[in-house]
Amino acid sequence: MWRLIFLGIIIGLGFYIFKRILNQTENSTVVPESNLDKAEDMVKCVTCAVHLPRSEAFLVKGKFYCSQTHINK
Ligand SMILES: [Zn+2]
Repeated sequence: MWRLIFLGIIIGLGFYIFKRILNQTENSTVVPESNLDKAEDMVKCVTCAVHLPRSEAFLVKGKFYCSQTHINK
């Protein structure tokens, strides 16, 4: 009998944790997208002074460029 109650508590707890994780992932899929944009560094192209996300920029010898054509200039 106690095993059943114990099992019920475990299942209840597991369900509760599962729900919390679901809520967290729901929040994390909505909130961090804007957070990621804010967190990403904006860099300036040395050639044309355009600002762009670091992940899209070309890094050559410590300088950022917006496109490959500007690297050669
Ligand atoms: Zn440029």
